[in-house]
Amino acid sequence: MTFILSIDPAKCTGHGRCYTTSPDLLHDDEDGFVTLRGGAMVVPPDRLAEARQATGACPERAISLGRQRGADRADRKDSDDHLHRS
Ligand code: SF4
Repeated sequence: MTFILSIDPAKCTGHGRCYTTSPDLLHDDEDGFVTLRGGAMVVPPDRLAEARQATGACPERAISLGRQRGADRADRKDSDDHLHRS
């Protein structure tokens, strides 16, 4: 299952709690905002716990963590194909 982390630029006010909480996942820019502000990233499976911590740390609720729908469908199809081949 693939998870996507995204930052709403309208809500992000640069508190910095996300990249302080999860420094291996998120980083700050020269103005103190998270560099992912206004963007999105695929969360590596071994970083999912950090992504959840960052999401919970944001006082503005600017961070969204959700499943990537298209990839999940592809994953299921691959899995179904594998079942039919077995
Ligand atoms: S996403 Fe939240 S915690 Fe991170 S810099 Fe923006 S407001 Fe601060």
